Amino acid sequence: MQVKINNSILELVQGDITKQGTEAIVNAANSGLRGGGGVDGAIHRAGGPQIMEECWKIGGCPTGSAVITTGGRLQARYVIHTVGPVYHGGNRGEAELLAGAYRSSLKLASEKGIRTIAFPSLSTGAYGYPLDEAARIAIKTVVDYLKDHPEIGLVRFVLFNADAYGTFETTLRDTQSPLIPL
Ligand code: ADP
Repeated sequence: MQVKINNSILELVQGDITKQGTEAIVNAANSGLRGGGGVDGAIHRAGGPQIMEECWKIGGCPTGSAVITTGGRLQARYVIHTVGPVYHGGNRGEAELLAGAYRSSLKLASEKGIRTIAFPSLSTGAYGYPLDEAARIAIKTVVDYLKDHPEIGLVRFVLFNADAYGTFETTLRDTQSPLIPL
């Protein structure tokens, strides 16, 4: 599914983030930037050791912020590592931190002149964020950013399974009325 937001494209696909040909892909990292399971493990496996070497030099990343490395052996030239919140029931600032993780990643892309970027569904694996709520925050944050930042031409959400794809699709359709479908 694709929609246009001003002159930018917001796209949903089901697939593997490590296979994307966007200029940057986003990693659901941890604050120590030390690698792990899920998307993080997949990106480091596919991209090779250079990405971890750069992460070691950077040292860490607070929850809600983002840092950037090269893409190593990945097709993507850059990996933007962001840290979403661990979900503790929703009363510990999780929503603002999750929005912050998306926003910081997009801001870093704008600063680096990156025009195409792919996100996984942050925080919805090991970090336990409920998928429907996380999808709403993800889509709202990206739509709001694209409205003000035409320099980003494409944002793609890469959803790993049919369940996540369906949830993002329903959420985007629900928020779509003021947007122009492609
Ligand atoms: P977090 O720790 O932020 O919750 P996870 O990596 O555990 O991050 O999961 C985030 C989401 O990414 C989950 O919905 C998971 O299904 C999905 N995911 C796992 N591997 C991949 C992949 N290779 N490409 C895209 N999404 C993935």
